[in-house]
Parts: sequence; structure tokens; C-alpha cells
Amino acid sequence: MRNSYDNLNQSAQYLKGVGPKKIQLLNKLNISTVKGLLYYFPRRYEDRSKFIPINRVRIGNTETIKGKVVTSGLRRTRGKMKIFQVAVADTSGVIYGTWFNQPYLKNYFKIDDEVILHGRVERYGNLQINAPEYEILKPDEEDNTIHTGRVVPIYALTQYVSQRYLRMISKRCVDEYSVYLKEYFPDKIVRQHDLLPLKDAVVNIHFPEQVDMIKAARKRLVFDEFFFFELALALKRRDIKEEKKGIQYNLKGDLIDKFKKSLPFELTSAQKKVVQEIETDMNSQKPMNRLLQGDVGSGKTIVSIWALVLCVQNGYQAALMAPTEILAQQHYQTINEYLMPLGLNAVVLSGGLKKKEKENVLGQINDGKINIIIGTHALIQDEVVFKKLGLVVVDEQHKFGVVQRVKLQKKGRMPDVLVMSATPIPRTLAITLYGDLDVSTIRELPPGRTPVDTFWINERKRADLYEFLRKKIKETNQVYVVYPVVEQSKIKDLKAATKMYEHFKDDIFTDCRVGLVHGRMKDVEKKEVMNLFKKGEIDILVATTVIEVGIDVSNASIMLIEHAERFGLSQLHQLRGRVGRGQKKSYCILLSEGKTEEAQKRLSAMTQTSDGFKIAEYDLLIRGPGEFFGTRQHGLPELRIGNIITDIDVLTQARKEAFDYLEGNPSFSGVEGEVLKEELLDRFPHNKDLILAR
Ligand code: ADP
Ligand code: MG
Repeated sequence: MRNSYDNLNQSAQYLKGVGPKKIQLLNKLNISTVKGLLYYFPRRYEDRSKFIPINRVRIGNTETIKGKVVTSGLRRTRGKMKIFQVAVADTSGVIYGTWFNQPYLKNYFKIDDEVILHGRVERYGNLQINAPEYEILKPDEEDNTIHTGRVVPIYALTQYVSQRYLRMISKRCVDEYSVYLKEYFPDKIVRQHDLLPLKDAVVNIHFPEQVDMIKAARKRLVFDEFFFFELALALKRRDIKEEKKGIQYNLKGDLIDKFKKSLPFELTSAQKKVVQEIETDMNSQKPMNRLLQGDVGSGKTIVSIWALVLCVQNGYQAALMAPTEILAQQHYQTINEYLMPLGLNAVVLSGGLKKKEKENVLGQINDGKINIIIGTHALIQDEVVFKKLGLVVVDEQHKFGVVQRVKLQKKGRMPDVLVMSATPIPRTLAITLYGDLDVSTIRELPPGRTPVDTFWINERKRADLYEFLRKKIKETNQVYVVYPVVEQSKIKDLKAATKMYEHFKDDIFTDCRVGLVHGRMKDVEKKEVMNLFKKGEIDILVATTVIEVGIDVSNASIMLIEHAERFGLSQLHQLRGRVGRGQKKSYCILLSEGKTEEAQKRLSAMTQTSDGFKIAEYDLLIRGPGEFFGTRQHGLPELRIGNIITDIDVLTQARKEAFDYLEGNPSFSGVEGEVLKEELLDRFPHNKDLILAR
């Protein structure tokens, strides 16, 4: 028997108007099935039951106007840009739509066409909208009632898929297939949260009967999205928490005692608290699965070393994974300083190892002769086989994907896991998002740190800046100069960084020792430069973002960031975190013209706060969760409609319902459980094993 999922999961090609060509284009929007189209929600709406007269638009506002094309023309600027412009008039006035370098538009707009333009109104002599969204109305089309005279949906598009086309097939899809959207929630949830029936929500999110229906429709769909996400998390968490027997570590022993005695400083109270949380986890039967978040420089490393020692003391091996070679090397050195005297055996698995050496090391890891293995993602390669892996630590976990973490984890039999991050997110959000992790937080810096002074300057100050640097270097300060290298223009950027280095060395700071480090250098070379810098034998280190995370050279006290506008806020904060680690007064100097409004926001945020939690929150707000977390992170699914910041209340409610549900009906029994399970698997197909675990 066909159930409603069979209908919903058939290809969108079953719709009239969607052929083999179109389906490929729709695929680019991640639409392949009928359900995919039903869940392809509008980006915004336009109320086309009434339009504002052109003479009433406000400069600076985003407006939607309707009128007839009165002129249309293509011209070139002196800079060889092609400008296409239409004049659109209604009975009250004229407004211009202008597009740069899209000359093909002249084939679309014909005189007397009725068109809708949408965008920010400016005045350059005439009223004008730059690169407006547009739609050309075709009065003779039978389905025009879909496109105007009502509140219409506006979708995100891709090339060769027009707004009208997408709206048309969306309407067909809603008309024909929304009947198959069956309620999957128990009555109680629907009533308690005053949710619209699912079908009505989907119909109204696309083609709202009235404007005020959009809100209710949206709430229902946001709730659903969060509910199933949280249900999936709840399953994962249950799997970790209850099903498995991990390693129960003994907390007492000679080794840990010696380690405690050897600490050169007293732990901050925040560190002590986290150590306790970790000890409780490690002492328990259940595998630890903990996220440790703390601002840059808050001292996470030493806490993780504590866990390493406990692990080794109990006869297990521990692995520490870091995102960059340089950081892995640094951790190796730090760990050696602490642990070599205790007789522990650590190794760094680096890309720079010769074949023989590598084989040798791999062999010793396999034999269990080596206690602590440090490395980059080289650790997750198949050739790395542990004898008895008991603890996995992932540093700067925001630079890794969940997949990599899990892969390393799988190299042991239910090892304890500690992941660390210096891009902290608000605690409520962390608990909600990392449903499968426990969260520890360090919100305190070790004593004796002076806050880093942050300045934002532009090119005109460059000469003064050099003076300042020279003076500071005379007083034995060390300086980082960071140059952006972005993926798209890597080679060009690298050249610029290298040139900068030469310019500094040969022209500007001829009396100083200048060094260079970047990602394309051989591992041994990087290591050598970093060692020289650490030893104070380099005054100015010109670097790319290879030094962004984790690097700890306490004598370095000045961070100069070139083209600061090209870095994200969290990245800038991480870079700043490289200084202010010692007793010396530290400075972070952002060199940037900061032209765009967004860049200005970022740069001034940097000058206003040095609190990583505030920075992260702010970054999350300006970039939105998608970009903030990156697609690789956390396994946070692509959210179609919910927003983890602005919809935090709905998220919290949905989370509670999801966790309560699983507790009340752990094996999804009964008809009610069956339908819920079906929807969950439809959304998260990989969760099958977790559900069947019961
Ligand atoms: P992050 O949290 O950014 O990884 P690190 O672990 O690199 O920070 O620590 C930064 C510096 O602070 C290191 O040089 C470390 O030795 C030092 N440190 C850590 N904890 C303390 C403490 N309790 N007292 C003094 N210095 C500390
Ligand atoms: Mg660190």
C-alpha cells in the first residue's frame, strides 16, 4: 500500500511543468522530491493586493512598486561596465531600475510590460533602485491570480529558475500534494503549543490566506524543525549515556600526584571546577562526552593534560588532535615539558616524518609503547592503530567536523572524549545545540593578565605605526604581523604576504630580525621558525592564519592584522588571543580601511570588547548561524526556517517536548510512536540504528 510518504517522496518531476532539465536546476536549490518543494519555504513575501504609488516611496527604504516600462536601454561606463536601465512609471511618477553587468536583461524587459521592482530606493537625480529584484507580469496568463492581487511568496532562486516559475510549480505542488501531509504529533503537543495543523501550515507558508497567517504557519514549521532535530539529539544522547559501558578510570595514583606537584602555577577556580567535572566523568562507567569552552588564553590546555595523565595512569593511550601542524607541535612541546619528567612517552604524528620514522612510530603506537599521541587530522588515517585508546581530546574543535571527531573516537572501544573550543557560544544555546555533549565553561583568565588594547587604524597611520613597532621592539617586545590568505585567491595572497615580509626585512625594519611562516612551507621549516620566535630570536613574525588558533608565545605582545576587514569577527578575536599572554602590556592593531558597513561593525566591535563570549554572540548575530558554525560543524543540520537566535524560545520548548517524548515512549510504540518515528527517519535517515537500539 502506498502511504503518504511514498507520495511525498516521489520526484518533483511528477509535477506538470517540471521536466528533466528543470529538475536539474531545482536540484541546485536542494529540491528533488515533492516534499522537498513543499518544504522549500519563501524567503519573504510581497503584499501585491496594494502597491505604493511611486511618488510616495521613501529614499533609503526598501520598497515594492508596480508600473509599466517606459524606456529601456543599455550603456557603457568609461570603466567599461555595462549598465542596463529601465524607467518604470505608474500614474504618480517614474523610477529607474539599474543593473550592472547584466546586459542580457535587455531581452527580458519590453516597453509597456507591466513589472514589479523591489529594492532599496536611492536618489541620483531621479528615483532609482540598484539591482532590484524584479518580476515581469504577463496579463494574459491564466494563473495570474497566483502572482498578483494577493500576498505572494518570494523564493530564493538560482540561475534560469525565475520567480514566476518557482511560484507556479510551488502552487501546483501545494494544491496537489499538501493533502498527504499527515499530523505526526500527539494531540497533546499540538494543543499545548497551539500549533496549526501541518497541512494548513505548509499551505499558508507559501500562499497565505491573510498576512497574519504567516506567523502561525511559521511557528508550526519552526517548532517541527527544532523538535525533530532535538529528538535526533536526544536519541544520540541516550545512546551515549545509557547503552554503553565505557572506561571507569581510577583517579588516585602516583602519576597524577606528581603531576599536580609539578604544576608551575595554581589553577584558577574555573579550571579547578572543570577538572572536577572531568574527573567525575572519567570516574564514571559512562564514556565522557564533554565540550570545554573557554575564551582564548583561559588555560584549557593544562586541563586537558590533566585528563591525559589520568588516562595514562590507568594504562590507556590518549590522543590529542589539533587543527594545524604548528599547534600540534606546540602541544607536543608543552606536554613533553610536563610529562617527560614523569616518564611518559609522547609523540607527534607529523606530516614531516620520513617514511621509516613514521613506520616506526606507527608500530610503537600499535604496540602501546607510546602513551600520548598528538597530531593533526593525520591521526584519523586508517594506518594509525592504537593498542588501547582510552581518551580522545580534540582542540579547537570548531575547526573540525563531527565526522572527524567520531572517526578518531572509533579507534578505541568507547573512549572518553573531551572537545575544546575557544569560540564559546551562550550556555543556553550550547546545551540546546550540543544535545549529545555536556558543557563545561571557563569564563575567567589566569591572574596577572592585562587586557589587550585594541586599535583600528587606516593606511594614513602606517608610518606612525612603524615608529611605534620599532620602539616596542627595542623594549624587547615581539610582534606578529598577520596577512589574510583566503582560499579563493590563495596564490595571489601568499605572494602578497611574502612580499610584505621582504619589504619589512629589506626596507622597513632592516635593524630587526624578521621571520615568515605560512601554510605552504614544509613542516620542518614551520617548526624551525616557530621555535626561533618562541626563543625570542625573531622580533617580527609575518604570518598567515596558520597561527590563528592555539599558538602560545607569552613574550609576543603585539598583534598587527593587515586587511583586518577580510577576517571574520571570531577569527579576529582568535588572532588577538595570541597576545596578552604574559606580563607585558599588549596591543592588537587592526589595519583597515573598513569600507563596508559590515566590516565597520566587526572592527568596532573588536575595539569595544575583549570578551570572547560577547564576541561570539555578536558574530552569531551578524553572520547568522549557518555561516557562524560553518557547514562542517556540529552536524547542525541546515535549518530551513528556524533561527537558533531569534527563535530561541520555540527551540527551548521543542527541545523539552522532544526529550520528554523520548522518555515517555522510549521505543516509539503504538500507532502514535510509529508515525512520529516515520517522520523522524524521513528527516534524519541515519538515525535508524539509534531508534532500533531499544
Ligand atoms: P587556551 O585556553 O587558549 O588554550 P592555553 O591553555 O594556551 O589557553 O593557556 C594560555 C597560557 O596561560 C599558557 O601559557 C598557560 O601556561 C597559562 N596558564 C594556564 N593556566 C594558568 C594559571 N592557572 N595560572 C597562570 N598561567 C596559566
Ligand atoms: Mg588552546
